[in-house]
Amino acid sequence: MVKVDDQQRSTVTGVYVAGEACGVGGAQLSLVEGEIAGLFAANARPPSRLLRRRAALRIFAEAMHQTYPVLPGWQSWVRTDTIACRCEEITVGTIRHAVTELGATDPRAVKSYARPGMGLCQGRVCGYPTAALVAGELGRAVTEQDLRGLAERPIGQPVPLGVLSRLEN
Ligand SMILES: Cc1cc2nc3c(=O)[nH]c(=O)nc-3n(C[C@H](O)[C@H](O)[C@H](O)COP(=O)(O)OP(=O)(O)OC[C@H]3O[C@@H](n4cnc5c(N)ncnc54)[C@H](O)[C@@H]3O)c2cc1C
Repeated sequence: MVKVDDQQRSTVTGVYVAGEACGVGGAQLSLVEGEIAGLFAANARPPSRLLRRRAALRIFAEAMHQTYPVLPGWQSWVRTDTIACRCEEITVGTIRHAVTELGATDPRAVKSYARPGMGLCQGRVCGYPTAALVAGELGRAVTEQDLRGLAERPIGQPVPLGVLSRLEN
């Protein structure tokens, strides 16, 4: 989770961060934070209504987290046929099978064997549960490396052919 100050500045000079990278708070909060980050990055002062809206949305997000906490032990509530990765429709049983029968020892390997995290959300929804299920099967806690292995990828941006054709060399 990226730590930001009131101006949405990260600890890296010149890098502003908004949205879910700073914590789960919903789409509206992400948009408002993005607007604030953009304005501060452009040396403009955001209107106070925007700052008030961010504060209110953060309070709402915190209330949601407190009202619907993910309680410890949830791994024991899910069934073999419970869907863990909705994009690829991968069940809990398939993930556990990748560990117990195919020999995967981390979520990244499970992703390769069984495809959780390979769909549209790219592990944003199923990454943590997959890591927790794998760690549970292996009798250990989820590590930072488990989560990094699922999320880390280079920044990618589609480049139109026209842009390439205009390059000189
Ligand atoms: C299943 C689900 C249901 C939800 N329902 C609600 C709801 O009802 N109401 C609500 O308020 N919020 C909801 N949310 C939360 C909401 O979607 C998020 O809070 C919001 O989308 C976060 O916005 P963001 O801009 O921070 O991130 P995102 O919307 O995730 O945007 C990040 C973007 O970065 C791109 N990206 C990622 N990696 C790279 C890379 N390496 N290179 C280039 N681009 C990259 C992604 O493709 C994506 O377009 C839901 C989330 C989920 C998963």
